[in-house]
Amino acid sequence: MRVVLLGAPGAGKGTVCKSIVDEYGVDHLSSGDILRKERAENSELGQQAQNYMDSGQLVPDDLIVAMMAGAISKASEAGFVLDGFPRTVNQAEKLDETLNANGIEIDAVVCLVIEDEVILERMAGRRSCPQCGAVYHVTNLPPKVEGKCDNDGAELIQRPDDNPEVVKQRLVTYHEQTKPVVGYYKSHGRFYEIESDQGPDNVRAAVLSILEEPVNK
Ligand code: AMP
Repeated sequence: MRVVLLGAPGAGKGTVCKSIVDEYGVDHLSSGDILRKERAENSELGQQAQNYMDSGQLVPDDLIVAMMAGAISKASEAGFVLDGFPRTVNQAEKLDETLNANGIEIDAVVCLVIEDEVILERMAGRRSCPQCGAVYHVTNLPPKVEGKCDNDGAELIQRPDDNPEVVKQRLVTYHEQTKPVVGYYKSHGRFYEIESDQGPDNVRAAVLSILEEPVNK
C-alpha cells in the first residue's frame, strides 16, 4: 500500500498516518519529522533547513526531493504513507520520476480538507513530544499526565513553527505552493478528499474505507 496524504499544516495528517500505519504496517515517511530529526542531529541538511522551517517557508525542492527519494528507497515491502511531501508541483513531478524509475505506483492520494480558522485554533493548542514526535492538543487530545508524553514521559513542547504568526505564514505557503499539488493529483486515478473537521474517529473510518478498495493492497 502506497499513499500520498495531502492537507494543510494542522489538518490532522499525522493522526491519519498513524491509523494507516497501524492498519497496513507501512512506513510513515513524514518530511517534517525527517527534517526535525536532521536538525536535532545538527546535520548539514538540518542546518540548511532551519531558517526556512522556523519562518514557515518551504525548504528548497532539491534538498527535499533527495531526502525523500532516500527514504522511499529504504521503505518496507509493505509500502509507505507520504506525509507532507510533495508540497510543490515540482516535488510531485520529481516524485513521479523517482517512482517510475523504481517501478512503483501510488495506490491512493488522500487530501484532508479543513478551514483555515479551525487550523489556527487547533495549532494554538498543539503540543508535541520532542523525542518521539507524538502530537497532542491541550483540550482536544490531552496527554494522560499534563505536559508529559504518554509514550516516553518527555516534556511536551510547542513547536517553534506552531506559534500563531508562523502558522499564518505556513497557511499562506500552503495555499500558494501546495494547493496546486491537489490540482496535479486530481487527474490521478484514486484521488479522494476528506473533510477533516469531523472528529478523529470519523476521519479514520473515512480514510480506511477509501483504502479498503482493493488496488495493489
Ligand atoms: P510539517 O511538520 O510537515 O508541517 O513540516 C515542517 C516544516 O518543514 C515546513 O513548514 C517546511 O519548512 C518544512 N518541510 C516539510 N516538508 C516539506 C516539503 N515537502 N517541502 C519543503 N519544505 C518542507
